[in-house]
Amino acid sequence: MTYSTLTTETVETSQKSGRENATIDMVILHHSATTNTDQVLQMMTSGSRRVSANYVVKDRRIVGVVPEEWRAWTSGGTTDGGKGAAFDRRAITFEIQNASNGGSWPVSAESHESVAQLVADFHRRYGVKLDRDHIVGHRELYTRWGASYATACPGGLEMDAIVKRAAELVAGGTPAPAAKPATPAKSSAPAFPLPAGSYFGPKSGPARSVSGYYSHREDLRTFQRQMIARGWTFPRYGADGLYGDELRDNVLAFQREKGLEVDGLVGPATWRAAWTEPVT
Ligand SMILES: [Zn+2]
Repeated sequence: MTYSTLTTETVETSQKSGRENATIDMVILHHSATTNTDQVLQMMTSGSRRVSANYVVKDRRIVGVVPEEWRAWTSGGTTDGGKGAAFDRRAITFEIQNASNGGSWPVSAESHESVAQLVADFHRRYGVKLDRDHIVGHRELYTRWGASYATACPGGLEMDAIVKRAAELVAGGTPAPAAKPATPAKSSAPAFPLPAGSYFGPKSGPARSVSGYYSHREDLRTFQRQMIARGWTFPRYGADGLYGDELRDNVLAFQREKGLEVDGLVGPATWRAAWTEPVT
């Protein structure tokens, strides 16, 4: 049962299903076309309708409804050949209540801030990219990918502003207070995944330099996620399983900070340090 530490309360619902091994790499935002959060929660828990969301947000109230491990029933359409459901499997989804009813269906500044903080948190924990291909509003599923159905949702929610604010929170090193608990360093790291003599490095390197360029390696993603958990950011590419400039620059700075050999490559010592060195 995983929820962001920013969550202010949780409810329980059976209105959810499995992610079927999809990797979380998107956030999909909806508005509820109502100001009434309790009514939305009732709908998501009563068993009467096949609807839910991972999070329900209004102002500073952040309700965890469907734990992040699970797929919420948020964006599916009945005539889209399952495309909307596929988006829900890879996304953390939101229902955000409006500041007032009707018109342009406005959403409050406080709700925007709460959502931006959560998006920054998902970037840190899952490597979700902070761009408009990965942080999207409901209507875009239809207009851009033919998924779900034609809709005005998410109303007055300002998508660009949310992405910009989340990037600011990440870049400024001003995480939401609870989003980044001080985690004591673990005493052991997962085993270095490459054969002796090999390392993660640029595609242009020799054969023992493994870039992930052709396969988006899961072990390299694991390393990137660990770096993100330590507070390093990958704003352009996220945890993509590739060795590129963004990873190299972070590794160089990390090696310098920890007194390791500063070569920008991820060999056994740097790999291990990402788990065993204290976060400073
Ligand atoms: Zn919607």
